[in-house]
Amino acid sequence: MRDLSRDTTFLSVNTATLKPLTLRQAIETLARNGVRAIAPWRDRLAECGVAEAALLLADHGMTVTGLCRGGMFDEAAAIGAQCLVLVVGGLAAGSRDIADARRIVRDGIAALLPHARATGVKLAIEPLHPMYAADRACINTLAQANNLCDALGDGVGIAVDVYHVWWDPALEAGIARAGAIDGRILAFHICDWLVPTRDLLLDRGMMGDGIIDIPRIRSWVEAAGYRGHCEVEIFSAEDWWKRDPDEVVRTCVERYQACC
Ligand code: ZN
Repeated sequence: MRDLSRDTTFLSVNTATLKPLTLRQAIETLARNGVRAIAPWRDRLAECGVAEAALLLADHGMTVTGLCRGGMFDEAAAIGAQCLVLVVGGLAAGSRDIADARRIVRDGIAALLPHARATGVKLAIEPLHPMYAADRACINTLAQANNLCDALGDGVGIAVDVYHVWWDPALEAGIARAGAIDGRILAFHICDWLVPTRDLLLDRGMMGDGIIDIPRIRSWVEAAGYRGHCEVEIFSAEDWWKRDPDEVVRTCVERYQACC
């Protein structure tokens, strides 16, 4: 397992963690604090403009560990994103058929794949916590994500986000199974699960403030062959989004080194 205690090389920060900032401000804040990798969301990318963003990222030597989210392969390719993170969607309006929702997801990704393969952008299926199964993503475990990847073939992989999968009794086995296929684990997202959690979407914790055993999960991911970044993704309307962004990034660096 890699020693992160003095590292910043493998730290990436998702722009959701720095919600109030524009993409330019986020890049500058990260660079100022020694962080050299980022994962932008499309709203911030769109606002900045893809060409401008590509220049800014290159100027600051930023690795792009992912683009959230959806089907914009050309944008992902233009900024050199290592993967395009799919949040696959939940039930159709009025539906109670989750099996059907999962078939729709499989067929939808299958339809996207030829274009993704042509642009060389890997699609990362991110299983989300089952509390989001109805409205955000009906793929909720590593086992489901692995099954989908097996069914779809080349060009798809998995984003492992500790917030979504920490509770899964089959997590270690699921990560090992993913690791058996070269390059299947495309991203590793970190934050923490707060007790109590006050909001199902916007109350994620900073690493070390909750109950997720992040080092243990990282040891499994690395035992499975993953050598990429640890991407900090913290949706936090009432806490971290209200703080000074430099303090947020400094804390990301400290906790990444001490708690991950
Ligand atoms: Zn994530």
